This record gives sequence, structure tokens and C-alpha cells, in this order.
Amino acid sequence: MEIEAAHGKLAEAEMEKQDEAVRLSEIGEFGWIRRIARGRRAGRGVVLGIGDDAAVVRPSGGKKRLLITCDPVIEGVHFDSTATDEQIGWKAMMRNVSDLAAMGGEPRWALVSAALPRDFPLRRALAIQRGLDRAARRFGVTIVGGDTARRRGALQITVTALGEAPAREVTTRAGARPGHALFVTGSLGGSRQRKHRTFVPRVTEARFLASRGFASAMMDLSDGLAGDLERLRERSEVGFEIFFEKLPVSAAARRAEVSRAGRVRRAMEDGEDYELVFTTPRSKVARLRREWARRFRLRLTEIGVVREKKFGIRRALAPGWRAASLFPGTIRAAYDHFLVPQSAAGKSGGAARGSRNTRVRPGELRQNARRRAGRRAGR
Ligand SMILES: [Mg+2]
Repeated sequence: MEIEAAHGKLAEAEMEKQDEAVRLSEIGEFGWIRRIARGRRAGRGVVLGIGDDAAVVRPSGGKKRLLITCDPVIEGVHFDSTATDEQIGWKAMMRNVSDLAAMGGEPRWALVSAALPRDFPLRRALAIQRGLDRAARRFGVTIVGGDTARRRGALQITVTALGEAPAREVTTRAGARPGHALFVTGSLGGSRQRKHRTFVPRVTEARFLASRGFASAMMDLSDGLAGDLERLRERSEVGFEIFFEKLPVSAAARRAEVSRAGRVRRAMEDGEDYELVFTTPRSKVARLRREWARRFRLRLTEIGVVREKKFGIRRALAPGWRAASLFPGTIRAAYDHFLVPQSAAGKSGGAARGSRNTRVRPGELRQNARRRAGRRAGR
């Protein structure tokens, strides 16, 4: 025991020494989150802490679970100057509502924290509020409080959203098992055409999937399918085989890209689709399709199958699809707030290492946080 404790202390000291030299641009957003989550114990009433779309807590004396999430929108990062104020408010609310939906929750309450420059026009502040209110009303969310602060430069709106779900309907990223079918709602690759400002989160669809027991694991697509699948894979400890030819490429992405490879790339890489990706046990697939078709007009596509962990993430080869011609370059990994884009990576240390690692072989999408790069403007 004593020896183990000593080892533990040594390891901790070693890790702290390593932390000294590391920059966020080397480990990326998800490396940072992993570091924050490391060794953290669940507190009283905590069912699920850091690492999923929302946290899950158990209020004393109730059968339901409370879901909690918080996400900001920042000028210049999540939207650019062409976004209207109402769109900024809408997006700030809906990003969070989408995360609650992804856990199988019913969105209920929200807090809004707004940081604005001191000379910001009231007219614009009220327009942002209209966007927030409109989004909240759409799914029966009540804004119950928040705060306002002065901030130099870019404006930032942070919404904390709370939702609830019966305990057995809470759906995490961890339930995918080999053999399960992989589905995605709607179509992919529309974010560059401004869809990300006006999207409607799949709350109704997600509640259906969770309450009827169809989704074994679920998450919303915010960073691009390639990167988000990587996160699903990590939590469920599985691999995925993806049918590239079945990916539901959005009309916007089809307009923007002539080649099949380009369209697939958009579907895999474009962030902010805010669709649902989920897995379903094979035995439930036929019933899911039937019930889905009765209820929704939204497209539902089986895009792959869950495999063992060591499989990684690969595409299934289909007739007429030549791997060599499909990806002349690489699939760029998902959006990450901290990893350095390739063009700016320079020569030194981790950044250069990171950029080299973003090259993946055609047909293989094996990445980890260190390898993720690629920054999009105006998000
Ligand atoms: Mg999410």
C-alpha cells in the first residue's frame, strides 16, 4: 500500500512537471478537458460528470434526473459580423438545448450570462435577447436568471441550460456495442451555408429515441462527424465502420462541391450540423425505421456499424469506390479551439508534430485530440 501511494505521488509529480511545458495548442481542446477531468471524483448526487453532452445529477427524492450543460457563443469564434443579433441569441440558446436533447432530456430552464462592451447599443442587446427568448419558447424553456458583465472587445453570451429525463431514459455516449447500427438524422455539411445560425435542435426526435429505448448511445453533431465519432468511440470504447457512400450529404454541400470525394469530406468534416448521431441494437432497427417513418419526415440514415475498439474508424469499401481516388489529401479532423492550423503551425515542437499527424491515410480516420487540427472562420 505504502509503495503504491509513493508511486502515485511520484506519478503525480511527474505529470505536473510535464504540464509545465505543454501549451493548449499542443493538446487541443479535448486534451485540456481530459486533463481537467482526470482523477476527479463524482460528488454527491452526481450521476455523470465531465465528458458527455451534459452532466447528469440526481436531485434528492425524485425519480427524474437533472441534465446540465453550459456553452458560450463568442464573436469571431462562433459567429462573425454577418450574423444578426437575433441569430446570435438563437444560437447561444440552441447550442445548449441541442446538448440536452442529445442526452435524451426535455429542456426546461436556462440562465444567460452576457458579457458586452460598455458602449454596446441597448437596441442590439435587446435584439440578442429576442433571439434567446424566441429559441427558449420554441421548446418550452424558461429563462430564470443570469448575469451581465462588461467585456472589452468581442461579445460573449453563455447559456447554462437545465433539462430533465426519467432516469432510465438518460442516454449517454457510452452505450454503443459492437454490432449495433449507427444512424444519423437529417443531412450533413450545411454549416458553411449559414445553417448553423438558424438550426432547430432535434429535441422531439431525441426524446422519441430515448423514451422508446432505441438509442444505446447518442450525441449531437457540433464539431463534424469525423471528430464527434471519435468522441463517441472513446466513451463507448468501440470502433466504427462507416458507409461513406450512404452519408446524407446536404443540398448546400452538394452545391458547394462537385466531386463525390469533396462532398463526403464536407459531410465528415463540417461542424455545426446539430444533427443526432446514435447507435441502435440490430434487433430494434426494423421497428425504429417503421416508427420513425410514421412520426417524422426528417431523414434517418444508417451510416455504419459499431465494431470492436481495435478496428478504429474506417470506411467500408463499396463497389465502385476506389480508395485511392477518394481522398487525394486527408480528412481534416474536427474543429478544435486550440490546436494550431497547419498553415500556422510553424517549425517548433508540438505544433509541427500536431500538424504532421493530421495526415491520415485514405480510408482511415484514426485521430486523437493531439492530431486534430483545422480552424474555420466565422463560427
Ligand atoms: Mg454536444
